[in-house]
Formats: sequence, structure tokens, C-alpha cells
Amino acid sequence: MRAVRLLGPRDLRVDDVPDPVVQAPGDAVVDVTATAICGADLLPYRGYVPGFEWGTTMGHEFVGVVRAVGPAVRRVKPGDRVVCSSTTSCGTCYYCVRGMAAQCEHLALFGFSGAYPRLDGGQAERVRIPNADRVLWPLPEEVSDEAGVFVADILSTAFRGVERADLRLGDTVVVVGCGPVGLMSVMCARRLAGQVIAVDTVPARLEQARVLGAVPVDAAGDALAEVMDLTSGRGADAVIEAAGAVSALTSAVAMVRGRGTVSVIGAHFEPEFPLDMGRMFAKEISLRVSIGSPTDDRERVLALIRGGVLDPTAIVSHRMSLDDAPEAYSLFESREATKIVMRP
Ligand SMILES: [Zn+2]
Ligand SMILES: [Zn+2]
Repeated sequence: MRAVRLLGPRDLRVDDVPDPVVQAPGDAVVDVTATAICGADLLPYRGYVPGFEWGTTMGHEFVGVVRAVGPAVRRVKPGDRVVCSSTTSCGTCYYCVRGMAAQCEHLALFGFSGAYPRLDGGQAERVRIPNADRVLWPLPEEVSDEAGVFVADILSTAFRGVERADLRLGDTVVVVGCGPVGLMSVMCARRLAGQVIAVDTVPARLEQARVLGAVPVDAAGDALAEVMDLTSGRGADAVIEAAGAVSALTSAVAMVRGRGTVSVIGAHFEPEFPLDMGRMFAKEISLRVSIGSPTDDRERVLALIRGGVLDPTAIVSHRMSLDDAPEAYSLFESREATKIVMRP
């Protein structure tokens, strides 16, 4: 079968590799029908993931049709359309039994071998799914493959970030960072907020945020002053930080009002952050950090797509073949593409 493998920094190849097979009683093998490139895929692509196992098949955002299952699999059967969570989880550890799959003690991320236990990803014709009863979820008939791909990671992550921002109907929300996860946050927040303000430096991203209903604010200018203007000088009720940068988090903390919440879903790796704790205390600001948890949230996220409340496919900019993966990665890295869906 064909698979997108990363052999070294920026050395991406679409190769013929052996077909995956059921190895454990709880495994399934899925025929991939659609798969997307995520911002997180760019980390190993750029050589930024220490210990990454070169040769791993990439990709943790995919949907497909179940091809085979091991004898212990109950929830899905061959022929079922399914969405796969970006990470596996055991279902039995301290965290899993308390509904915190993202903190599973046996977590693995598809296509991130080395940083996590060995697990090939779904940018391939077929993929082996460990613990399939927990990791796979049936796709409702009304949800297209392309929409389903977003449930695997970025829409579920945005959903969690918005939920954890403790929004009330009619609130003003700022989303800092309008990459794909930020745009998904704008889309989710729009369903509750009175006003969504989107902050980024890239004009095309700000334009997309505007189309999704946000007030665009250019971070190259005085974004803090603009947010204060739009909120009667108070700051926003909640700020969602979806950029994963120190400067973005610094802005987010400055843009929130007293007793407001900063909800962080951008990926951070810096060991230190200069937090103005005096302001945090005086303003009683809550700072919350979330990793997407599709295994916990997918049922509700799918309900929103199925009910026509959210249409994540609005941000798909490129539809390509799996064989075009090297070109797709370079388009995505250079930000010429917002979101790329590939089909084997
Ligand atoms: Zn992702
Ligand atoms: Zn677990």
C-alpha cells in the first residue's frame, strides 16, 4: 500500500510499504478515505521532535472504512465508516476511567513514533488502529468524510478550548492566532458569543476569520488597543490562545477583562513564561490549558456537524491526492494552504 513516510527533516516520500494487519485482539485495520495535514505534523517535518523515529508513516487526522477487526473488537465491524481519534488511550488507567483521555498513562499519537510509542499514522491507504473500540467512533451518515477528518483533532481541540473558556451567551471572545485551530475556535465561539474578535498577522487568515463572522484585528498593529476599543476599555470576557507562541499568550493575558478566562489550546514547549502575576491576581484572571481530547468530545462535536451547526469544511483550501503529499506539506508549511485534505 502507499504511505507518506518521513525519512528525515523535510525528506517526505510516498512509498509502497507492507499492508498493516491486525496484531492484537483489540486491533482494527482501516481503509483511509480522507486524511489531513495538521500543524503538529510540521514539527517532525522540520526536524523539531527529539527522538522522532524516521520512517514513521505520518498523520493523525483521518477517517475511513473498517477493513478488518480483531476478535475482541465490539463497537465497530468491517464496512463501518469511522473517525479515528488523533491519540490512542487505554480506557482503563486512572485518567481514562475519569474521562481524561488526553492524560492517558499509555497515550500514543498516530504518526509521532519516538516522541510517543511506535504508531504509524493515517496518511496512507490503510492504518492499524490499536484498541479500536476506544479509538474509533462511527461516522453518522450525514457527516461527510471531509467534515469527519476535523473531528479527529482540530475541531475537537477548538471545541474543548471554547468550552474551557467558560463562555456565556452573548460574551465577547478574542481568538489569538487564526491558523486552522484558531479558525475552528472562531467557528465554535460564534455559536455562543455576541462578538468574536480574531487576531493574527496574516491577511488571508484574518479574511477567513472575517468570513466566519469575526471582527479581524491585525496583530502587526496595536491589537491590544483595538480589543480595548471594542470592549469599552474592559477587555474580553474570554480569550482563546490558539497560536502556541509566547507573544500570543502575552497578548491573550493582556486582552482579558477582570475575572475573565484565558483558554490556551496553542501548543507550547517553552519551559518558562513571563507571567504578570500581579495583574493575574488583581484582575482574578483564570489561565487554563487544554490539549484536544477527541475521544471524550467527538460525540458532541459530531452532533454539531450533523445538526448543521458547524461546517468545518469551510476552511479546506486544497483537496489533493496522497501521492502529492510532498507538495502538500510544502504548501501548508509556507501558509499558502489553510487546510489540506488528501485522499488515497
Ligand atoms: Zn493535529
Ligand atoms: Zn488510559
